[in-house]
Amino acid sequence: MAICTLHLNPASGLISPARQLASPNHNQRPDNEISLLVIHNISLPPGEFGTGMVDALFTNQLPSGQHPFLDSILELRVSAHFFIERCGQLTQFVSCNDRAWHAGQSSFQGRSHCNDFSIGIELEGTDTQPFTDLQYQTLTALVTELMHHYPQITPARICGHSDIAPGRKTDPGPFFNWQRVLKLCGKAHSSTADKPVDKP
Ligand SMILES: [Zn+2]
Repeated sequence: MAICTLHLNPASGLISPARQLASPNHNQRPDNEISLLVIHNISLPPGEFGTGMVDALFTNQLPSGQHPFLDSILELRVSAHFFIERCGQLTQFVSCNDRAWHAGQSSFQGRSHCNDFSIGIELEGTDTQPFTDLQYQTLTALVTELMHHYPQITPARICGHSDIAPGRKTDPGPFFNWQRVLKLCGKAHSSTADKPVDKP
């Protein structure tokens, strides 16, 4: 089920309503800056949905011997702040106040270590098929709430994993509808900000 309105508790960095599933794969941000939003896609095994394996990956509980691809990533220690399943369900793995390990080696406008200052959102999906309406609904609610609390996240600072790790990463892929999200978020931003949105 998609979610229409979400609320962030700034002290805890937790969103509600959301399923909370703590990932150990995080640490402290070097400063308190939260100024970038990174969109990803993931499915495990690749192309399969609703398997619970993303939960397992982010909590270091992948089963061995079930699938060759899963075996190849058993040792990965990664996470994202948020995961949006095909049905629109939202799960939070890491507090927004903490640094999740989603971007890896990355650079945004010449600045590296994007995990330090970003929030990572994973959409359950692939590079080869559209995301669902329910996912866009939850994503829009989430991005709207995040932009409200973190005004440094402007529409120009919402990017894809492929934008900050070109050549290494391709997600969220060509089927991700940027217009659909940025249009709604741009409106949300200008209606909640005290000052006008930066000119491009
Ligand atoms: Zn990614």
